[in-house]
Amino acid sequence: MVEPYEIIIRGARLRGYDLSKRYDVAISDGRIAEIKEHIPEHGEREIDAKGRLVVPSFYNMHFHLDSVLTLGDPKFNESGTLWEGIAIWAEYKKRISVEDVLRRVEEFVKWSVVNGVTYIRTHADCTEKTLTGVKALIRARDEFKDLIDIQVTAFPQDGILTEPDNAEYLRKAVEMGADNVGMIPHNEYTREDAVESIKIAFEIAKEFNRDVDGHVDETDDPISRNLEVVAKYTLKYGWVGRVTAGHVTASHSWDPAYRYRILPLIRKAGITIIANPLINIYLQGRFDTYPKRRGMAPIKMYLENGINVTLGHDCVLDPWYPLGTGNMLHALFMAIHVDQMMGWSDLFKALDLITVNAAKAWRKGAEQYGLAKGKRADLLILNALTDVDALRNLEPPLYVIRHGKLIADNTAPERQYKIYYKGKWETIDLNFKKALNK
Ligand SMILES: [Zn+2]
Repeated sequence: MVEPYEIIIRGARLRGYDLSKRYDVAISDGRIAEIKEHIPEHGEREIDAKGRLVVPSFYNMHFHLDSVLTLGDPKFNESGTLWEGIAIWAEYKKRISVEDVLRRVEEFVKWSVVNGVTYIRTHADCTEKTLTGVKALIRARDEFKDLIDIQVTAFPQDGILTEPDNAEYLRKAVEMGADNVGMIPHNEYTREDAVESIKIAFEIAKEFNRDVDGHVDETDDPISRNLEVVAKYTLKYGWVGRVTAGHVTASHSWDPAYRYRILPLIRKAGITIIANPLINIYLQGRFDTYPKRRGMAPIKMYLENGINVTLGHDCVLDPWYPLGTGNMLHALFMAIHVDQMMGWSDLFKALDLITVNAAKAWRKGAEQYGLAKGKRADLLILNALTDVDALRNLEPPLYVIRHGKLIADNTAPERQYKIYYKGKWETIDLNFKKALNK
């Protein structure tokens, strides 16, 4: 007797497949066991997708879990600037504890899962000398592993060379088990220190065989040119494909002649750019009067030059960002507006930024990620018929399946939109059916 499939999703539209057709997706042993227009067998659990869109689950590739949900403590950021945020965080972290971090992280992990995010790469501030945040986030990686995959980047928030011991703290954080080595070269005192700090980060990465995940050139200053140094060391240390550069907002302001020279180098080094659209459109351009620059890494430019780009939410309810629920569609929505990526075919590529492009930079298990037979069953059933609906309604998915198990169900009846019209109740469908024909 053949074992029944654990889950069968019936009648779904699948991202990247023919949208005029509906498919059944069978799941067993954590994998996609079958995808067909009709699967005759029964599943232990059957989910009727009613033509809704199935996509692989979302990644949040740049996030600060150690500061999440600390908004207002010890005070609110009234100027809304990066610098006031850093000052507030410096106060907060004086009395941070492992329990405090874990409690906040647990709550945010649940929010993320409900929003279809099952992978978070977090930065752990390792210039806080007790390394409490690092300890807590390494523990969180294990503690919440039934809900989410977490990667921890050791992040020297205050710089690697700004204080004598910071390089050693960075090394220690990696030794304790951080997955990736961070850096913040634009925050070092001089260009020479910035270059040296990048070299130190790569040496630690080499010593512990870790990937590199930097905060790089998060400034509007176009001559903050640390990305080229990161590329140089990526090539020198043979780390091609193992390096991500977060923010890189300076690249928005680069001179065209510099772009021409630098982009092939970034491509050659296989560096992934991680844009943080929500936070950077808010925090950058603060020295401009009007017109104000769009302070976001130019995603379209990088993609057109064959450079991988993915997205982070960066912060939620903390000293730097007072909004957010952990929904990566919000970050994506901002990105496609700021970088004017709403041509009709662009809209059908946008979700790549928080799915396949992210999986590539995450690296671990990337070959098992996706919507095909044999891949890991990390799937979302969205309340959308196409990518365009997902970008319009920004809703949490109806269902979240991770490693083959149903872990979130957002289908409670009160979520239906209903209006009372001409003497009766009717349910309103906000989906744009014309988009099915692309
Ligand atoms: Zn950040």
